[in-house]
Amino acid sequence: MSPESEDDALARTRARVAGASKIVAFTGAGISAESGIPTYRDCDDSLWRRYDPDLFANIDVFMRDSTYYWNFFKDVRYQVISSARPNPGHEALAEMERAGKLSAVITQNIDGLHRAAGSRRVIELHGNTRRISCLACSRTYSMEEVREQLETELPPPCRICGGKLKPDVVFFGEQLPQAALSEAARVLAECDLLLAIGSSLQIYPAAGMPQQAKLGGAGLVIINKTPTPYDDFADELLPHAAGEVLPLLADAVSER
Ligand code: NAD
Repeated sequence: MSPESEDDALARTRARVAGASKIVAFTGAGISAESGIPTYRDCDDSLWRRYDPDLFANIDVFMRDSTYYWNFFKDVRYQVISSARPNPGHEALAEMERAGKLSAVITQNIDGLHRAAGSRRVIELHGNTRRISCLACSRTYSMEEVREQLETELPPPCRICGGKLKPDVVFFGEQLPQAALSEAARVLAECDLLLAIGSSLQIYPAAGMPQQAKLGGAGLVIINKTPTPYDDFADELLPHAAGEVLPLLADAVSER
């Protein structure tokens, strides 16, 4: 795409955002990359060679032996998530919601950064890694509590009943939570513009949601640094960093 047509696509998207009344944002790991949380699929990062997502995010491996996951949590995940802060992309979406333009954020992310930025209606399709629960008695723990426990006990048992602890995230091989799927279907049916941001659109069923909104009559804008399987389906493509583009779209709302 030439710089001139990129400017055109941005101008057209700003006009779409200004004219829409029920925008939904569908977000993936890319929106949090600028907060310092690496994506799984931009895999030249040696982190994902040391800790293979197919192992630490796989439910069968976790249920058989959670040691691999808790080592990953102790060495990597806790540090990355606890130090991450929302970036201008998360903040722009929260601003659009406050302005009454954006009705919901549907996210595949498990980092809690949309809520931290001030977004109120956040539909978490894959859960939230900041919550940890006992599979036996349902007692919940914070990330901080479990991180401390890991200094002496790995894997960490529940302090009340000795049961197995699991982060409240959807592992590969698990079903997505029905309540989140139903709420997502409701907001997708009502939206007039879907912004798909920072997702490779490869993990189903979530990846089918932008197409679902488009088939329901909404406009579709894909904001992603690299191509996705749904690019031909989109009304506009903005192959840029989310943290740079989204504030320009939020400005289009406030300038109106
Ligand atoms: P993905 O890793 O498959 O794709 C991320 C996409 O974001 C890539 O196509 C990449 O080109 C793009 N990207 C990277 N930086 C960007 C930026 N600054 N601006 C715009 N685009 C950018 O992510 P996915 O589709 O969300 O699927 C990964 C799965 O892994 C999800 O299920 C998610 O739950 C999980 N995950 C979550 C986090 C998180 O919570 N932050 C991080 C890694 C993985």
